[in-house]
Amino acid sequence: MTGPSSPSPDHAGGLLTIDLGAIAWNWRLLRDRMGPGRTSAGVIKADGYGLGAPAVARTLAAAGCRTFFVALPEEGVRLRAALPGHPIYVLSGPLGDSLPLFTDHNLRPVLNTPEQVQAWLSHAPADRPYALHVDTGMNRLGLTPAEFDTLADRLAPAIVMSHLACADQDGHPLTAEQVARFRAVRNRLPDAVACLANSPGHFIDDALGADALFDLGRPGVALYGGNPTPGRPNPMRQVVTLQLRILQVRRVDTPGTVGYGASRRVSGGARLATVAAGYADGLLRSLGNNGWGMLGAVRVPVAGRVSMDLITFDVSAVAEDEARPGAWITVLDDRHTIDDLAAEAGTIPYEILTSLGRRYARRYEGGSADGSVAG
Ligand SMILES: *Cc1c(COP(=O)(O)O)cnc(C)c1O
Repeated sequence: MTGPSSPSPDHAGGLLTIDLGAIAWNWRLLRDRMGPGRTSAGVIKADGYGLGAPAVARTLAAAGCRTFFVALPEEGVRLRAALPGHPIYVLSGPLGDSLPLFTDHNLRPVLNTPEQVQAWLSHAPADRPYALHVDTGMNRLGLTPAEFDTLADRLAPAIVMSHLACADQDGHPLTAEQVARFRAVRNRLPDAVACLANSPGHFIDDALGADALFDLGRPGVALYGGNPTPGRPNPMRQVVTLQLRILQVRRVDTPGTVGYGASRRVSGGARLATVAAGYADGLLRSLGNNGWGMLGAVRVPVAGRVSMDLITFDVSAVAEDEARPGAWITVLDDRHTIDDLAAEAGTIPYEILTSLGRRYARRYEGGSADGSVAG
């Protein structure tokens, strides 16, 4: 199965393979972390972290995921066909005049502000389920504790949620504070499903208590292979393989430099391979002279700056018959992960995934368009 508007693998500059079986496996691992009687939702905002929200949604639904979160109303509208019967929550809530989108497409808002609460209670048909977001210390989005106190008695959300700021840092004191504040919130709304854990939140310290995971996990990046426990081995399976096509290989006759700004010197006899992808395809410019790829079993470094559509690798260490036009340099797979490439680019795997361009030929494996999943 290939993506709807993706170019032919025959002539694309890059080949992006998405392992839906690994996404299903990752979801099951996260659900199991939640413990008996609890489960996890799936966060598929930003087009499923760049991997294709409909395919991810069908895969997760087939694996047993019942609840989905997107960021914006239009993302929910686009997903409705892939998830005909599942609750889809919109994290940003009703924005502007978007209320009819919620009612027409049976989307559920996350209400984040007193204004959103007011608008929903006065305009949405009664009994339409919604979630309530209380800010327990991130100071980003959600009702303040004082606003929650004022409004709680009038509210009956299906889900009450908050968001952890530092769950990826072992033993960070803010996590314990947020868990304690969220316990108080959930005690005020005992009938609501309590939802706190993002990906790293599924792995927080046992010392916080088994109930610190609450009822429903809300993972995103770990579904897609990102390490939810930075600094420790990654328990998730890699989902993404990205291969870049070599356009040209040149042997440098005399010492010289590579690319814009002549930022990399090469000696005579070096061999350079230029691939048909660049920063317009999400291979961030900060990978210049920092990133790595694999050609066969050999690690090859990015040589010089990343251009819009081209990157040059130093393939001097690769046998001549392997480093040739038409061969592929792999920049993402289970040997060189989204966390590795993110570290080389000076960013986080979230940005690597959501930057993946539209010019790759996309191929889904380990599942099918209707959501049935192998493995
Ligand atoms: C993006 C997001 C998530 C998922 O976070 P990950 O770190 O990707 O697991 C969960 N909840 C909220 C409110 C989010 O914005």
